[in-house]
Amino acid sequence: MGVVVQKFGGSSVKDAESVMEAARKAIRAKHAGNSVIVVVSAQGSTTDDLIAKAAEITSEPSAREMDMLLATGEQISIALTAMAIQELGERAVSFTGPQVGIVTDSTHRKARIKKIDTQRLCEALDSGHIVVLAGFQGIDEQGDISTLGRGGSDTTAVAVAAAVKLAGYEVECEIYTDVDGVYTTDPRIVPDARKMDAISYDEMLEMASMGAGVMHSRSIEFAKKFDVPLMVRNAKSDAVGTWIMPEAPWMSEIPACGVALAADESRLLLEGVPDRPGVSHRIFAALADANIAVDMIAQSVGIGGKATIGFTVLNTELDRTKKILGPIVGELGATLNETGKVSKVSVVGAGMRAISGVAERMFQALAAEGVNLKMITTGDIKISVLVEEDGAAESAVIEPGPAEPIKKAHLESKKAVRGRRALRAVHAAFALAQPRKGAGAQPAAHGEFKPRLVPLVLPAKTEREAAIARLAGMEDVLVSGVQLNNEQSRITIYDLPDQPGNCSKVFNAVATGGILVDMIVQNQSGPAKAELSFTVPRADLTRALKRTQDVVREIDPGCRVVGDGDISVLFVLGVGMRTHTGVAKTMFGALAAKGINIAMINTSEVCVGVVVERARGEEALACLTEAFKLG
Ligand code: ASP
Ligand code: MG
Repeated sequence: MGVVVQKFGGSSVKDAESVMEAARKAIRAKHAGNSVIVVVSAQGSTTDDLIAKAAEITSEPSAREMDMLLATGEQISIALTAMAIQELGERAVSFTGPQVGIVTDSTHRKARIKKIDTQRLCEALDSGHIVVLAGFQGIDEQGDISTLGRGGSDTTAVAVAAAVKLAGYEVECEIYTDVDGVYTTDPRIVPDARKMDAISYDEMLEMASMGAGVMHSRSIEFAKKFDVPLMVRNAKSDAVGTWIMPEAPWMSEIPACGVALAADESRLLLEGVPDRPGVSHRIFAALADANIAVDMIAQSVGIGGKATIGFTVLNTELDRTKKILGPIVGELGATLNETGKVSKVSVVGAGMRAISGVAERMFQALAAEGVNLKMITTGDIKISVLVEEDGAAESAVIEPGPAEPIKKAHLESKKAVRGRRALRAVHAAFALAQPRKGAGAQPAAHGEFKPRLVPLVLPAKTEREAAIARLAGMEDVLVSGVQLNNEQSRITIYDLPDQPGNCSKVFNAVATGGILVDMIVQNQSGPAKAELSFTVPRADLTRALKRTQDVVREIDPGCRVVGDGDISVLFVLGVGMRTHTGVAKTMFGALAAKGINIAMINTSEVCVGVVVERARGEEALACLTEAFKLG
């Protein structure tokens, strides 16, 4: 029998009328022959109001008591929703998270789900009730109420769907919200953004982590891990929304499905870092231990045994990050520079695995807008660039005076001025407003994109079920595979003037030679200088080098270009690799323990890539396979 899990967010149950509408949707799904679980969030701004109430009492509420308080918001919603369903003549029963055994760890206010005991829930379903379940909450092993972190009801919904699926039911999950689905980018910034009909789990993970804002990343991790088909749709209409689903063959024809902007990060540069085994591990292990999620990491090759590591953290974690790294940086004889607020613009598309030319197009669009790129990293299905916001003349002033809502709107419009401009340019460059397969219509012509000889990273093939069976908790990180690629070589440009357009020129020169570029890392290497590294197939190294040297000579004869044919690229693939801070730590730690030096690092939501010396590639593969128990 089929189970439909319907999740209604705070705005979709904000008042009696919305609650009745949600109840009607649930009843319709029931009448269509499904068993129905409704997961609800707290009404409207309830959670914010509860936080404000606590703040009237204390500036440092205990996390346990906060959870006790916040969980009440959802309890109101479940009771009202169950009453609404009953009022409309159907049987319904409401449950809190603890009542249906949603067991979490004890990290109050951001607890992770360990297991869900579906017995009571399934009994209620089997006896014909619509089950109304509180989102966002659970119970820890001491019996205390916990909450999953802001926006956590999505996670509850998908996790419950996964648990019901594991119990043997066929399941689908619908996320009702106040938008029609997932868009090619934020329609508030780019009005002609197009609604997508379908997007893959990996694409959605990359988009969500970059502030696409529609769903909680953790919920999509659950969906991918347990293969739960998911639809995001509008609570106020019956329009079909966006399917978030396993990667379908047609998706590999679409080089870019969406672009995203993240505007709440700061960039840090570690300069003069000794380029020897174990150093990255030292740094990122310290941050992981403090539970600080590092977003973008770009390590450049470095000269004279010194590397530069650039990375970003959320603005809210900046002070803590500096405090933790201070002593370590001292010991290493390196320096830590805070380089200010940045916006990250990313283009995402599963087709990038097999199609090249995406980076060139992106950089060209940004160059045409005069946007300077402070850092570049690539993942298997995304390319991210950092754009500097501090110092943007338009961005600064917070004017005193206007009342709260006006002030907010005002600030919003002044935020991330350059990032927004970059986002619009990239969205237009990929013609994302046009209908295409998976977004309104037939495939658009992507004539200018060339197939890659070998996809950058192959989706992990490891048996999902076996891997899941080894997990202690449902929400634990799942590393599904490690891959070694020995067919790549690397080109590095030192002292590239840090000006708009240079990357575009370089990649244009390489691409017009028909050479496919895979991994790209650009980092700052000195005042107004950048270091740009990228990999190309080994067979093309000589040609790529020649083309790069020619174009670089035109830009600035002072730049140095170096080719290296002796590299191996290793990729670790999985789910939850960034929301769990420990993956990079384990990875760098395992390599450090073997004395293998890391020459380049790339991270994304679903893949961490490193470049090591070719001679140690096989050894690195073996040690990572062991470190992640994949053997
Ligand atoms: N009510 C919680 C919050 O506002 C959970 C949710 O809405 O998903 O964060
Ligand atoms: Mg909410």
